[in-house]
Amino acid sequence: MQTDAGVTRCPQCAQQVPVDPRYVTWCDKCDWNVDPSATDRPEPTWRQRLEHRLADTLYRELEHGHLHRPGWDAARIGAWLLSGLVLLLPLAALLAGIALLVFYRPLWLSILLALIPLSLALLLRPRAHRLDPDAHLVERDSAPTLFALLDELARTIGTKPVTAVVVDPEPTVYFARIGWRFRPVIGLGLPLWAGLGPQERVAILAHELGHGKNGDARHGWMVNAAGSVLYELRQTFSEQPLDRYRQELADAMWADPTPAGLVTRIVNATVGGGVRSYSWLLGKLDLRSSQRAEYLADRKAAEIAGSDATAWALERTLLADASYRALERSLRFDKGIQPLEAVRRAVAEVPAREIERRVRLSRLQDTRIDSTHPPTYLRTKLIRARPAQRALVVLTNDRSRAIDGELATTADAVLKELRTELR
Ligand SMILES: [Zn+2]
Ligand SMILES: [Zn+2]
Repeated sequence: MQTDAGVTRCPQCAQQVPVDPRYVTWCDKCDWNVDPSATDRPEPTWRQRLEHRLADTLYRELEHGHLHRPGWDAARIGAWLLSGLVLLLPLAALLAGIALLVFYRPLWLSILLALIPLSLALLLRPRAHRLDPDAHLVERDSAPTLFALLDELARTIGTKPVTAVVVDPEPTVYFARIGWRFRPVIGLGLPLWAGLGPQERVAILAHELGHGKNGDARHGWMVNAAGSVLYELRQTFSEQPLDRYRQELADAMWADPTPAGLVTRIVNATVGGGVRSYSWLLGKLDLRSSQRAEYLADRKAAEIAGSDATAWALERTLLADASYRALERSLRFDKGIQPLEAVRRAVAEVPAREIERRVRLSRLQDTRIDSTHPPTYLRTKLIRARPAQRALVVLTNDRSRAIDGELATTADAVLKELRTELR
């Protein structure tokens, strides 16, 4: 659909390009203005280059079918070992504290001394993922169609059934393991979920449950837990904002640099440097293993939901931010239509040309849902490059609408909250 449409010439190659005031004008011949925003990515250049290379080599590996068992590749084992070593630190601190209390006397001194390792253990302890106490949960009883679909998917994929569904206003759908029993939970972000067609919903859910099957969430928890220990260590062993000031003050008051300042700097350079390199290596290994995990989850999704629906679903996720904005507009300026209906219309209205621009943008800019996802154009290309798969699980229009009905009450509560926040 193109309203108020006109044409103009590409300033770069003089090709005629259509103009639709609601979308970016760009040239499909020379890619002029595919990316109208200035590219300011917060990530360092090495990481961008590395991601590019990784995406390419991984893509080739998967395209040629060199695929081992999902889950445990060298990068993942490496990341797992490095994380495990880090997580031994709080354990060692805890044991040291207990040993001091048990074996060291006098007791008053051992208590004082044990406080240091024990508080260190407390600070660095790994934490389980918890649900936000205000999270909007959908109960199994109140959403039989949704849970029947989730159970069918879990059975077909060969993973544990989902314990709970969380509805939130984020433009994403996710899989998480909650608590120390690592219960599988699916998060449905309304702006993305509302804009998906029935079979695309199957694809996205199959992708997320595919992560569950491949053990990605447990692995992610371990790497994240190690990451937060490393973060604390980096904070401790790097120059703090006040360090320099203190040093200058000391220099001004006494002519020679204080030995304490010197020691701090040496420790920051050695221990801090070690911690930074370790974090870098862990990040690099984890990046490869999580990008691979995404491709494997995509493959699972294509097996379950069919190749076409999966590729479309991935392209839909490129519209997630636009869906969110449509939702926001609808909540701010009530125009008499249901907010989620506004999202559906906004997504359905997006012309193929705009989706194509976003796919190209993902190639130019590596736009990802988050930094652990490979660029969308490679993901869809890989799905379409493999022999087409027919769907194993099919969601009819009626069942899809029934699911919307089951989610309605919870969705209303979520939207009401978001409306209050926006105002
Ligand atoms: Zn052009
Ligand atoms: Zn994923």
